[in-house]
Amino acid sequence: MALRLRRLGYEVTVFDNNPLPGGRAQVYTKSGHKFDAGPTVITAPFLFDELFSLFGRRREEYVEFLKVEPWYRFEFFDGRKLDYGGSMEDTMQEIDRISPGEGQGYRKLVEFSKRIFSVGFDKLADQPFHKFGVMLRQVPALLFLRSYLSVYTLVGKYLRHDLLRRAFSIHPLLVGGNPMRTTSIYCLIHFLERKWGIWFPRGGTGELVKAVVKLAEEFGIKFVLNKQVDEVIVREGRAAGIRFSDGGKSECDLLAFDADPPKVYRKLIDSRHRSKWTDGRLDNLAYSMGLFVWYFGTTKKYPDVRHHTIIMGQTFKELLAEIYDEKVLSDDLSLYLHRPAATDPQMSPDSGDSFYVLAPVPNKKAKVDWKEAGEKVRQQVERQLEATLLPDLGKCLEVSFFVTPDDFEDRFNTLWGSGFSIAPLFTQSAWFRFHNKSEELDDLYFCGAGTHPGAGLPGVLSSAKVVEKLVPPSRPSNESEFQQLFRSKSRTFSLASLFLPAERAEAIFRLYYVCRTLDDWADEGHLDKLKDAIESWRTHKPHELLDHYRFLQARWGLDSAPLTELMSAMLKEQDGVAIESMDELIEYCHGVAGTIGLMTCPIFGVTNKTALKHADDLGIAMQLTNICRDVREDAENDRVYLPAEFFTTKPTPSYFLNTESKMSLEEITSVKMRLLQEADRRYLNGEKGISFLPWRIRIVVRWAGRMYREIGELIKENPETFHDKRAVVGKWKKLGALLPCLSRSILT
Ligand SMILES: Cc1cc2nc3c(=O)[nH]c(=O)nc-3n(C[C@H](O)[C@H](O)[C@H](O)COP(=O)(O)OP(=O)(O)OC[C@H]3O[C@@H](n4cnc5c(N)ncnc54)[C@H](O)[C@@H]3O)c2cc1C
Repeated sequence: MALRLRRLGYEVTVFDNNPLPGGRAQVYTKSGHKFDAGPTVITAPFLFDELFSLFGRRREEYVEFLKVEPWYRFEFFDGRKLDYGGSMEDTMQEIDRISPGEGQGYRKLVEFSKRIFSVGFDKLADQPFHKFGVMLRQVPALLFLRSYLSVYTLVGKYLRHDLLRRAFSIHPLLVGGNPMRTTSIYCLIHFLERKWGIWFPRGGTGELVKAVVKLAEEFGIKFVLNKQVDEVIVREGRAAGIRFSDGGKSECDLLAFDADPPKVYRKLIDSRHRSKWTDGRLDNLAYSMGLFVWYFGTTKKYPDVRHHTIIMGQTFKELLAEIYDEKVLSDDLSLYLHRPAATDPQMSPDSGDSFYVLAPVPNKKAKVDWKEAGEKVRQQVERQLEATLLPDLGKCLEVSFFVTPDDFEDRFNTLWGSGFSIAPLFTQSAWFRFHNKSEELDDLYFCGAGTHPGAGLPGVLSSAKVVEKLVPPSRPSNESEFQQLFRSKSRTFSLASLFLPAERAEAIFRLYYVCRTLDDWADEGHLDKLKDAIESWRTHKPHELLDHYRFLQARWGLDSAPLTELMSAMLKEQDGVAIESMDELIEYCHGVAGTIGLMTCPIFGVTNKTALKHADDLGIAMQLTNICRDVREDAENDRVYLPAEFFTTKPTPSYFLNTESKMSLEEITSVKMRLLQEADRRYLNGEKGISFLPWRIRIVVRWAGRMYREIGELIKENPETFHDKRAVVGKWKKLGALLPCLSRSILT
């Protein structure tokens, strides 16, 4: 989160009440044993890779991910085991061993899970859901994917055997949900695991936290630990700062919480500033379960115990009812046992083993006195493990301590001591979940487990991506200024932009501001500014202007390459231009104009590769037209774009300025005609790309292309006049061209 805000140019300070960074991923070290406190299963490793690559770094240089095999071992109450992981065939074989013939059912489940993934993760996980319209648009897809079913019900449609249904329904528990009620969207985890596997950071999850902190510090983010925030300072309807438990305070331009949103609203923001998230409403939400986690070290090694073992109790539905509905402690617990040394031997001392075991329990809405119950549950868990996987456990315990929902409430600041914030029900997901941009106060944002898309490391990382899309760059981001600039400098596009939906138009204005400013720096000889921008871009450092492009990247998925190419093409122009060949000219046109087409496509919702090629062609065609229009003006600025290879002798700028000789004017005209021919060819290609665009945008692009072609036609008709004079398309002609563009765009 902090990293993504820094990317937008904010000076970021992270305050956290815990002694180490990482939140629930604390690390406890006792008597030679090291324990990761929380997350241990790394799915979606690509999200971490992406985070590092945003800063031009490779995750591998900071932390190594080790492959975990099997992903999980299931130990059932009747002594049967199931190893889940490896190839599809490995898992199918294991399933067939438990229930012959059911492997195929699992294959079909994964196939369906892939379809859920392609919507639920690919399209929705990092999309802002603070507007109800966004939610409404997704309803058909969600219904089609049967997201109204629970995970358990959906799994039951593919697997018949009771033990298999239980095993393949447990995923919601990893993010705090009851499998009997959690929306089946969470079945996407099956595909996620199948496609990317399960990983563990060498040295433990703590090393992953250290890696992220190192990256953050390299980019100037500060961490202030052991600092409890007690209050959000509200001024004129905006979050203006925070007050600490020690009486100190910190003012800010923008406040982003990675904390439990219900707790923040309830305890940190005075109720008079809350109209939606009233205390009553917060109390009525369904909260995820609590966690009992026992960390223990032994003097004995248990080499047969896998890295992740799920120990299923006798009951399943009954246990879930006890946890979520009846809110009582069960005497038949299901457990998750973590033995990291199975993957990374350095995770335990030479002579022993280090573990944690986690039991889902009711959250603090239950009437359980954990001061008393904690030790009893620990003993119950010890007995269960001793009787099954860890014989002699009692005799070889060396280190032992545990956390209960009390600790989650006190040390991790969650309401009702929940392990994962509010539960991932359909009615508490997407728009119904806590919004990443607060509805109550301006300049207040949320990411983390309680927000869209939800708990778990992939969810939390995706929620940070959402916030990056919502927070504008810190420096001047006055939308109306961008718009004014756009309208004053680019009249053709300005008229065309009236057809754009507001949000896309704003993005185009912002993009125009970035490109125009760079262009002005290049034209006005501000080499220092251009070079500084290129260097900041290369080193991924915040930059006043380029942060706007980064914001567009986060929001609309713009690629980095076009901006890199645009700036380097501009830099090349600085020492005068003398293009040698047509190839060189096309490369230049791509750099300064084709790239603009590539940047605008994602804003128009187009990412198809063929369409991008057409967009590039359209940009090149327009630039070729520009070049033919401005030959004289460019020559005055020591720039010759007409390729030398087409002239009898290499032309200097003065050749284009002293055109008394009819011969030279004829030669220049013939070269211009060649370029305009090439432009026409590319306009045709560009026209093919227009069909990829939404219809309103088709009008805009088709019309703009048409205007440029008109300029080319004027030059072709009267080359000599338009050598000394700039070819301009008249207002009425522009309007006249609109009608055919409109009808063609609507009809095709
Ligand atoms: C035992 C356990 C095992 C898990 N296993 C996995 C797993 O294997 N894989 C997986 O993907 N996920 C796992 N998860 C879930 C995952 O760890 C969480 O969903 C994720 O870490 C939540 O991240 P977060 O940033 O939302 O909150 P946190 O990690 O809780 O970070 C928030 C931090 O802000 C601090 N804070 C909150 N309020 C304040 C305040 N007022 N003042 C100061 N500081 C404050 C909190 O104390 C905390 O340190 C596990 C969770 C637990 C508890």
